[in-house]
This record gives sequence, C-alpha cells and structure tokens, in this order.
Amino acid sequence: MRGIIRNLSDFDEVIKNNLKNVACFCPKCKMMCYGELEFLYTDEIRGLSINPQSKHESIYKHTCAQCENEIFLIKHPVDGQSSLTFVYNAEIQYDWSCVPDGINYYMAQAFKSRSVGANSAAMAMYRSALEWLLFSLGFKEKDLNIRIDKFGESEYSEKIGTEFMDILRLLGNNAVHVNDGDLSLQKSFDDDLLNSTEELLNELISLIFIGPDEHKKRVEKMKSGLTEAQLKRYQKEYESPGPKVRPVITIDDDH
Ligand SMILES: [Zn+2]
Repeated sequence: MRGIIRNLSDFDEVIKNNLKNVACFCPKCKMMCYGELEFLYTDEIRGLSINPQSKHESIYKHTCAQCENEIFLIKHPVDGQSSLTFVYNAEIQYDWSCVPDGINYYMAQAFKSRSVGANSAAMAMYRSALEWLLFSLGFKEKDLNIRIDKFGESEYSEKIGTEFMDILRLLGNNAVHVNDGDLSLQKSFDDDLLNSTEELLNELISLIFIGPDEHKKRVEKMKSGLTEAQLKRYQKEYESPGPKVRPVITIDDDH
C-alpha cells in the first residue's frame, strides 16, 4: 500500500496506516515522487526536543527513490493546533547557473515561504522575481508598468504575452498593501493560485534563460560526434561571419 503526503491530513492518514513508501514533493525532481518515509528519533536531532510518543510532535525524513534527495516533515503544534511543515533545500530547485542570481534568489525565497505556509510572503517574492527578470533583460525603468510594456515589445512577448505579468503585479501589491483594511484578500493566495503563478514564472524563465542554454549545450554535444575534418569544414562554413551557407557534410567528406 502506498500513500501521498500533500498536507497534514494526508500525513496523519499515512502515519495511521504505517505506510513506508510514500509520495512527497521532491524539489530536485520538481514533482511528486515516491520514496521511503523514516521516523527520526530524538537523539538523532540535536537541540530539538521531540517526544517520539507524542501525537502532536514528530520529525520524519523522506528520501526520493529517484534522486535520493531528502526532505524533512515536521509535525508540531502552533497555538494549540497541529501543523505540518515541509523543510526543503530550496537551492536545489532554484540553482540554475544560467539564470541571473536575483531571479534564483527570489524564486527560492518564495519556495521557502510556501514550505511554511507563508503564502502572502510567497506572492510578494514572485513579484520580486518578475522585477528582477525584467531588470536582467535591460528594462530598468522605475515603474513596473513601463517595464512590462517594454517586455511586450520584445521578441519573447509573442510566445508568452504580458497578461500574467500585469496580474502578478496586482496580486503582489495585494500581498503587501493595506487594501483599504480588507485582510480577506490574503485568503485568495491558496495552493492552486500560487502553483499557477510559479508555473508561469518557470515557463518565462525557461523561455528566456534555460531553453537557449540547453539548446546550446545539445548543439555542442552533437558537434562532438563530428570527425575533426567535418568539424573544421563546419566551423569554416557555418561559423564564419557573413551570410550563412549551410554546409553539406557527408562521411565521404572525411578526407
Ligand atoms: Zn527526487
């Protein structure tokens, strides 16, 4: 029997049924992954007084069966109510060397905020990630509206548009402003809304930074399959300045 842990009630169900092979979100695989769920005893966790007999406190470690990444699940009381916190290594998820540091930083901050249920904070961090992304593309105007308009005129806009950026700007504002004393706006930041926001930002990051970087790496890998003579001809004909003439390379050219 296998289980899945997305929240506290899933967690309680899994523990009640004593399930060991369980799916949790793996930040390295970026998806729900099955793996071993293991209870950590008090003496393994220095400085934390978790009572192994307690129904309200426990620490578990989940090891992803695909990539062996570990996450920690901590059940602990908050204001007398049970709560479940997922502790992730956010650097794993947002450590793309081809992506500007500011974007990695704010996406990781959003991820960390979400792992402890700070959803309003996560939305504000997504907005900051967007600001960094537009800044990295050279749009340095003070007003975010103008930067979004500039993006709308760029080569990327055709593929992804600017509508979600305008919405993210407003949602980010709702997350940090007083909003005429209306606190209920914060309730709209549920998991589905945050997932959609994160996925659209990842789509944007992939389009601008990760996709071109991966394309370049694949081309280099393919080049490594050419013979030295083919590579020389290729470089001479394809990489020289001026109009490109597609080289005709066959195995017979090898002399
Ligand atoms: Zn994994």
